Amino acid sequence: MTTTLIRNAAWLVAWDAAAGGHVYRRNADIAFRDDRIVFVGPHFAEPAERVIDGGGVMVMPGLIDLHSHPEHEPAYRGIREEHGLRGMHMTGLYERSQAFSADDEAARSACAEFAYCELLRSGVTSLVDISPPWDGWIDLFARSGLRGFLAPGFASARWRLANDHTLAYDWDEAAGRQRFAAALALIDEAARHASGRLSGIVSPMQIDTCTAELLRDARDAARERGIPYTVHVSQSVVEVEEMLRRHGKTPLAWADEIGILGPGTILGHALFLDTHSWVRWWTRDDLRLLGDSGTAVAHCPTPFARYGQIMENFGDYLHAGVTMGIGTDCAPHNLVEEMRKAAVLARIAARDIHSVSTADLFHAATVGGATALGRDDLGRLAPGMKADLVLVDLSCPQMQPARDPLRSFVYHAADRAVRDVFIDGRQAVAGGRVLTLDQEDAALRLAEAQRRIEAAVPRRDYLGRTAAEIAPLSLPIADDDAR
Ligand SMILES: [Zn+2]
Repeated sequence: MTTTLIRNAAWLVAWDAAAGGHVYRRNADIAFRDDRIVFVGPHFAEPAERVIDGGGVMVMPGLIDLHSHPEHEPAYRGIREEHGLRGMHMTGLYERSQAFSADDEAARSACAEFAYCELLRSGVTSLVDISPPWDGWIDLFARSGLRGFLAPGFASARWRLANDHTLAYDWDEAAGRQRFAAALALIDEAARHASGRLSGIVSPMQIDTCTAELLRDARDAARERGIPYTVHVSQSVVEVEEMLRRHGKTPLAWADEIGILGPGTILGHALFLDTHSWVRWWTRDDLRLLGDSGTAVAHCPTPFARYGQIMENFGDYLHAGVTMGIGTDCAPHNLVEEMRKAAVLARIAARDIHSVSTADLFHAATVGGATALGRDDLGRLAPGMKADLVLVDLSCPQMQPARDPLRSFVYHAADRAVRDVFIDGRQAVAGGRVLTLDQEDAALRLAEAQRRIEAAVPRRDYLGRTAAEIAPLSLPIADDDAR
C-alpha cells in the first residue's frame, strides 16, 4: 500500500456530506492510500511514502465530463467553428457528419489520444466517451489513466442529406441490432479490464435514429448490468420537427411515453424543450418530465453557442430538480471553459445574474456528473472516496489574486492553472504535462488524419463539394502564397 499526503494545502475543496455540498477548507491536509482518500483535515499524523507541499495549490475533486466524442471531434478543429446551415435551423451536424468523416482506425486513435490529453490537462478525471466501437479503444483509454465510461454507439438508421434543408433517414434495424450486440460485448470487455477504471454505458445514439424497440431493449440491457444509459435527445430543431411529424410529440414527451426516462438515463443536450424560444410547441411539460423522472442531462454549451443557440436556461433546469452534468461535445475538450460558458449563457437566457452560481456549475461538473453515473464515490474529496483529484497552481498569473480560487479558475485561468492530476491515486499529469500519453505525437497524426478526411469530402458530400467550399478558411490565402 502506498500513502500520498498533500500537506497544508492553501485551499481545499472538501465535501461536506451533512450539508450536501462542497466547502472551502484552508491549510488542510489530504491523504490517499492506493485508490482511496483516507484523510481530509487539519493534520495527518500517519507516515506517508510521498509528501507534496500544498502551500501553493488549491486541491479540488477531479472533474467529470458527462458527454464527449473524442474519436472524431478533434479533427474538426478549424472546420466546425463556423459551419452550419440556415436551412436546418443553423445546425451543421448532419451535413458535417456526412461529408467529413474520420472512419479509419489511425484517425480515430490520433483524435482520441489528442482529446484525452486536452481533457487531462483541464482537470478531467472521469470521462463519458461516446464513440463507435474501434480497435484499440479500450487499450488507449486504459493507458490514458482516465476513469472511463465507454459508451459504444449504435442506431437503427443513418442520417442522409440530399439537399441543405431536408434530413432523410436510411433505416436498417438488423444492422442496428448487430451494432447493439457489438456494443454490449465491448461494454462487458471494458468492465473486465484489469485496471478496474473502465466501465460501460449503453448508448443508442439518437432518439430520431433508433426504433422504440431498440431504445427500450437498450434500456433493459443497461438495467440488467446496473450501468447508465445515454442517448442524444432534443439536440436540434430539425430533430424536434421530425419527432413532431412522426408522433405529434416532442422528443422528450415521446421518450417519456416509451419509458426510457428515469434515474440512470443521461440525455445528451435536452436543449430544445417545448418551451424553448426556437421551438415554442404548445405543451409546457418537457422540463417537468425531466425533473420528476430523475433523468440527468449532459449540458455542452459550446457547439450550440457557435450556432447561435443557448439552453433556456440552466438555472431553471436546476430548480426543476434535473440532475445536471457538464460535457465537451466538441473541441476544445476543456471542461472548465464549458463551465464558464454554461454560467454566462444561463444568465443571458435568464436575464438574471443570480440564475446560476460558480458553486452550481462546480457541483454539476463534479457531483452532478457522479450522480448521473450512479457513482457516489466520485466528485467529492472526503475519506472513502476515490482518489481522483486536481492540484491547481495558485501562482499561475490568471489565478492571481486568488481571493476566491474557484472563480479565478473557472472565469480566468482554466487549464493554464492545472498542475497535477491524480486518478485512482495514480498521477496522470505533472507540472501541466501528461505523463501517460504523447500529445505532440498525436497532434502530428491528427493533422495527417484531417488531410485524409478533407481529401474524401467531395466523394461524401451530397453536392460533391470540396472541404474548402463547405468550410472556407476565415481569411483568403494571398494569391502570391497560393501559387
Ligand atoms: Zn454528442
